[in-house]
Amino acid sequence: MKLVMLGAPGAGKGTQAKRIAAKYQIPHISTGDIFRANIKAGTELGMKAKSYMDQGQLVPDEVTIGMLLDRISQDDCAGGYVLDGFPRTIPQAESLTKALASRGEKLDYAVNVDVPDENIVTRMSGRRACLGCGATYHIVYNAPKKEGICDVCGEKLVLRDDDKPETVQKRLAVYHDQTQPLIDYYKQEGILAEVDGTQDMDKVFQDIVKILG
Ligand code: ADP
Ligand code: AMP
Repeated sequence: MKLVMLGAPGAGKGTQAKRIAAKYQIPHISTGDIFRANIKAGTELGMKAKSYMDQGQLVPDEVTIGMLLDRISQDDCAGGYVLDGFPRTIPQAESLTKALASRGEKLDYAVNVDVPDENIVTRMSGRRACLGCGATYHIVYNAPKKEGICDVCGEKLVLRDDDKPETVQKRLAVYHDQTQPLIDYYKQEGILAEVDGTQDMDKVFQDIVKILG
């Protein structure tokens, strides 16, 4: 199964993508996680991405598309994958459609996790991320067992720089301008599935599983 997660920053794409990956035994591929791992490792790719991410802007398509297409051509992706945070622009979506078509493949679903802007700032200001393993928590809705420490790998949790309220507003504006049009793009492709992302995490997941089967 091949699917992409759509939704505003903080809508719960990552939270649900991890659960989907575990249930359907497919890799969870988050472009944001790949960029953050590269920043942490001090690579050239990370250096390119950092300034855009810190300002709440998108990393240019020239950098992002090649990186993602390269990732999904690896062996572990042969049986499918769930993409989280990609595509974020129409050119990214078109490149993905084209690359898949050239191998006689196509996406099965685009799952849109719908959450209104009013809920997003609370979600983001409470998000705590592990830069070690990519796990995500929320100080109220999904707290780690020990405050500030990752349950999975024991690293210290951080508030991402781009989750600070002023950057979140910028990211929401970028989302509405560049990413929201993908909802119509995938509707036209006939693979759009919509879920109400304001429900609790378990209910959102149940709704997704009903669609994916
Ligand atoms: P995204 O990947 O779309 O940016 P995340 O999955 O990281 O979003 O979720 C953003 C924050 O909101 C995280 O702190 C997460 O724990 C929390 N969260 C995710 N889904 C829900 C939900 N259904 N209800 C409440 N909080 C949620
Ligand atoms: P995320 O972890 O998905 O919230 O992404 C964090 C940041 O990484 C975004 O605000 C962008 O700056 C960058 N990013 C992640 N995925 C993409 C993408 N597909 N295209 C452009 N920028 C991206």
